[in-house]
Amino acid sequence: MNNNLKIYKVKNKEYKIYFVPKEKIAPAFGQAFPYEKKGGYAEVRNDLNPIVKRFVTEHELYHLTDNSKWLGRLGMEIRANIIPGIKNPIGFIYTIIYTLFSKERIKLYYEMIFKKSHMK
Ligand SMILES: [Zn+2]
Repeated sequence: MNNNLKIYKVKNKEYKIYFVPKEKIAPAFGQAFPYEKKGGYAEVRNDLNPIVKRFVTEHELYHLTDNSKWLGRLGMEIRANIIPGIKNPIGFIYTIIYTLFSKERIKLYYEMIFKKSHMK
């Protein structure tokens, strides 16, 4: 039994979220691997403020369930922020504020949108 693993059910499909140490994925808050294994899985940092952690979990779950292709990588990030953001606006705002205080995170977003790297 792994205490750092949580299973979330979305539309009758199960998705795994692993809560991992900061060192593993920083400066990212989370990352999703939608095409790997059965239904995919994601990792979320376990050191985040609980409100941010919850929003990042919703964001990564959205990536795992997202089948749309419009706007490529930018579209994936827009959808994974806006749709969970409508359901959880406080988490969305907290996460933006957290990001604005981190130069590393701003650089990460730039690279994610304009260069190739996997989804965060
Ligand atoms: Zn993302």
